Amino acid sequence: MKAILYEAFSQPPKLVSLSDPAPKPHGVVIRVMATGVCRSDWHGWVGHDADIVLPHVPGHELAGIVEAVGNEVTRWKPGDRVTVPFVGGCGSCPECHAGHQQVCDNQFQPGFTHWGSFAEYVSIERADLNLVALPESLDFATAASLGCRFVTSFRAVVDQGKVSAGQWVAVHGCGGVGLSAIMIAVAAGANVVAVDISEPALALARKLGAVATVNARDVDDVPAAVLEISGGGVHVSLDALGAIGTCVNSIHSLRKRGKHIQVGLMLGNDSMPPVPMGRVISHELEILGSHGMQAHRYGAMFEMIAAGRLKPAELVGRKITLAQSIDALMGMDRFEGVGVTVVTEF
Ligand SMILES: [Zn+2]
Ligand SMILES: [Zn+2]
Repeated sequence: MKAILYEAFSQPPKLVSLSDPAPKPHGVVIRVMATGVCRSDWHGWVGHDADIVLPHVPGHELAGIVEAVGNEVTRWKPGDRVTVPFVGGCGSCPECHAGHQQVCDNQFQPGFTHWGSFAEYVSIERADLNLVALPESLDFATAASLGCRFVTSFRAVVDQGKVSAGQWVAVHGCGGVGLSAIMIAVAAGANVVAVDISEPALALARKLGAVATVNARDVDDVPAAVLEISGGGVHVSLDALGAIGTCVNSIHSLRKRGKHIQVGLMLGNDSMPPVPMGRVISHELEILGSHGMQAHRYGAMFEMIAAGRLKPAELVGRKITLAQSIDALMGMDRFEGVGVTVVTEF
């Protein structure tokens, strides 16, 4: 199969030919029809992820068609249209038993703990637990764009933030994660304030229903601007970028008893933000994380998509070839373009 492989961190990946994977007894091999290019892939390529063993094939936001199934698999057959959450569960640890596969003790993450989907085929473990059937109406590129950023935002807004109609929500960072969060919070009935440094990103945020935007380049004090707009602070604020500045701004954007949800990964120089714990106590703030979403929660999201309340297709930006994914991956820290870049030609 054709695949993108890197043999050293921060060195240009190559388009190579590898032998096709075979399914594990409890797993499947999926023919990849679309795979998103995500900042997490860039973090992995730079060397920020201790799970990655070299040489490595990146890619974790995938959708495709089941090609081969292991002999223990009961729920899937060749030809099924599927996607997977970027964190797969083991099915036997306490977190999996509690239904929280997104924080499984023995996680399967394509593109991190195992070879990923920047390839014609990808092997997925424990398929009966981790695969999600795609509705016929959902195309592969849109489905791939859900796998990490959209589902993480869905869990952040709906399950962790429990955002309800009339609440104020701030979203710091309007890349793939942030724009997804805006769409989902608007669908939940919230008044959304979008923060970014890119005017095109803020314009898309407004198009998705944000009632106000703050260009962080134009104001000295982002939290003060959010407090002004929301009449004293937001109920829920997300750092959708993953940086010290946006994390701390997000916490300072909250009203009393508000919830900060960390969605963007905090890695490298951003791994230890100075969280104002005094304010967390005096304002009774909640600090939460969101780490993907369990396969069993996809149904609720698919129903909102089918009802037209969520339109993830609007977040798909550029469609590129597998060969072009090399430049897209290496350039992921430059935040070029708007929306989610998806590989659709292999
Ligand atoms: Zn588990
Ligand atoms: Zn991702």
